[in-house]
Amino acid sequence: SQIPALGISHFSTATDSIPSHRNPPRVRNLIGGQFLDSQASKTIDVLNPATQEVVSQVPLTTNEEFKAAVSAAKQAFPSWKNTPITTRQRIMFKLQELIRRDIDKLAMNITTEQGKTLKDAHGDVFRGLEVVEHACGMATLQMGEYVSNVSNGIDTYSIREPLGVCAGICPFNFPAMIPLWMFPMAVTCGNTYVLKPSEKDPGASMILAELAMEAGLPSGVLNIVHGTNDIVNNICDDNDIKAVSFVGSNTAGMHIYARAAAKGKRVQSNMGAKNHAIVMPDASIDATLNALAAAGFGAAGQRCMALSTVVFVGDSKPWEEGLVERAKSLKVNAGSEPDTDLGPVISKQAKDRICRLIQTGVESGARLVLDGRNVVVPGYEHGNFVGPTILSNVTSNMECYEEEIFGPVLLCMQADSLEEAIDIVNRNKYGNGASIFTTSGVAARKFQNEIEAGQVGINVPIPVPLPFFSFTGSKASFAGDLNFYGKAGMQFYTQIKTVTQQWKDLPSQGVSLAMPTSQ
Ligand code: NAD
Repeated sequence: SQIPALGISHFSTATDSIPSHRNPPRVRNLIGGQFLDSQASKTIDVLNPATQEVVSQVPLTTNEEFKAAVSAAKQAFPSWKNTPITTRQRIMFKLQELIRRDIDKLAMNITTEQGKTLKDAHGDVFRGLEVVEHACGMATLQMGEYVSNVSNGIDTYSIREPLGVCAGICPFNFPAMIPLWMFPMAVTCGNTYVLKPSEKDPGASMILAELAMEAGLPSGVLNIVHGTNDIVNNICDDNDIKAVSFVGSNTAGMHIYARAAAKGKRVQSNMGAKNHAIVMPDASIDATLNALAAAGFGAAGQRCMALSTVVFVGDSKPWEEGLVERAKSLKVNAGSEPDTDLGPVISKQAKDRICRLIQTGVESGARLVLDGRNVVVPGYEHGNFVGPTILSNVTSNMECYEEEIFGPVLLCMQADSLEEAIDIVNRNKYGNGASIFTTSGVAARKFQNEIEAGQVGINVPIPVPLPFFSFTGSKASFAGDLNFYGKAGMQFYTQIKTVTQQWKDLPSQGVSLAMPTSQ
């Protein structure tokens, strides 16, 4: 195999060094089946957010290298498209087995580069693995339709064909799950792929690419290029790329949506969020408060479906105290330490932004009932830690409410009725997720019917669907019209071709210029 000194072929071995602070390995691109050192002169340091140690360096891939990756994908397409669907599925069967085999290695890489706890990192891999499992059933998912005898001796059928070269652009917060939302669905449909991992934590994508090759994915079917804005713009502009999947912030997502669509590409763009939970006074107190604390502070609030706002309705208002008690009991530490509840946030800049938004809340009249800004973790004094933070008496005109904070900060609001609470949620621009906690079927049904969010939880704090459904964020949380995974994911990565065929003895009827109609 291609295992060099570091034991990882996707790292540069030019220096043959053990990763160290002074001599970090360079992450390679994957082009046409080979892990290649980039000729780029500029690199970005990948930092361990708990320590600031340089884990590796990501190259800002050159234009030539980018073109080589697209060209490799384009070359691989015709034979991959014509590879039997059963063979493509079997590679996914093998891939899911290999991901299970290496899940600890993947999780450790995620904790090192992204910061989340090891247990949460396992969840990151597992939720992606479920998409690979889903792709194993692509033959039935991709089936076409057939109507016989639409006219005398004429049948019509539709088939779903792959598009060609597709591309995916990933965020930092789920280094395994989100690449796995993208390339397994795309390649099992028969496309070839160019993946651009987050420059903050590219390691899991590289391990997954190695596993995909080991599983039998032919050279050129999956390619990986690293970089930031320039490489993303190249993806948007390249005429050989037919579809772009994006997950990340609204600023990048709307830019990519507009730029790639202007080039005639399909785009699915999953973006930011402000997820609310409405708490009714008839809810089960203990279970609800546990769920709120877990959904607000898990992954240090860096999930697009993290809970960021709780609306306490009527007599549930005093429950806030119980939420603060639970939040106080959570342990902030490096993700690699046992029993950690919250790891660090991704970067110093992210921490500064989170702290600034907390401060704007205080200055505009919110009550800071729990302040995690000054937390110090012994042994990890340089880590980007923010402890659980709760702001109370928040109103919808505050900056901390209008902006996605993307940190371990829960905002508490109050409403006198369910109608008022639903109105608060619906006035928010985002529509990723919203939940209600109640024991009343009537309240739950009203909520489900009237709430304007794409993913709805009823006594479920983070209602992310499993891959046989789709991830259906709405409003400002999504741009495009075919969502990730599920049927919509397959539809996004395929084009319908509708065939009308006539097989009958054709007696001569002369030339008729009239519009053909069903006979
Ligand atoms: P980000 O937008 O900063 O980065 C995402 C990707 O876009 C990266 O690969 C980055 O290199 C690229 N990028 C960033 N700015 C760009 C620009 N100006 N031009 C071109 N490319 C650019 O997002 P992030 O900080 O990595 O991720 C966090 C965000 O992702 C949050 O807003 C979160 O809600 C969102 N997110 C959404 C979902 C979802 O499914 N809705 C899932 C996960 C994360």
